[in-house]
Amino acid sequence: MSERIVVGAALVEDGRLLAARRSAPVELAGRWELPGGKVEPGETADAALARELREELGVDAEVSDRVPGEWPLRKPYVLQVWTARLRPGSAAPRPLQDHDELRWLGPDEIWDVPWLDQDVPAVRQALAHLGAA
Ligand code: C5P
Repeated sequence: MSERIVVGAALVEDGRLLAARRSAPVELAGRWELPGGKVEPGETADAALARELREELGVDAEVSDRVPGEWPLRKPYVLQVWTARLRPGSAAPRPLQDHDELRWLGPDEIWDVPWLDQDVPAVRQALAHLGAA
């Protein structure tokens, strides 16, 4: 089976990164992730991410640039990360699906939450990318 892409957002506002705590499935519940989800056939990665952020968080987000790298998930999925911002006038994010808590993490709070194992290197790379951007 060929690779399927899951897109995650490094959504930043006022220098803080949004983290979302999963409520399902049970094996992932309680762990934190960059919000996002699967790219559907025929969809571009950035359009998929904007859709997922609308569905999961109720926000209107502008997806910017891709963070270099790709992280393996359960086969056949791989995680890619894009930076994103809320558009002016967007609602504040709220957990509508898949999550039960959100946190905006400042630079010295990033590692305070138990990220999903596979998101740890992606978060590290996203921070490096944002710092260099
Ligand atoms: O959110 P959704 O269920 O569409 O995500 C698809 C898969 O990608 C899930 O198995 C989830 O664990 C994984 N994922 C991840 N890290 C993210 C986003 C999703 O491991 N930041």
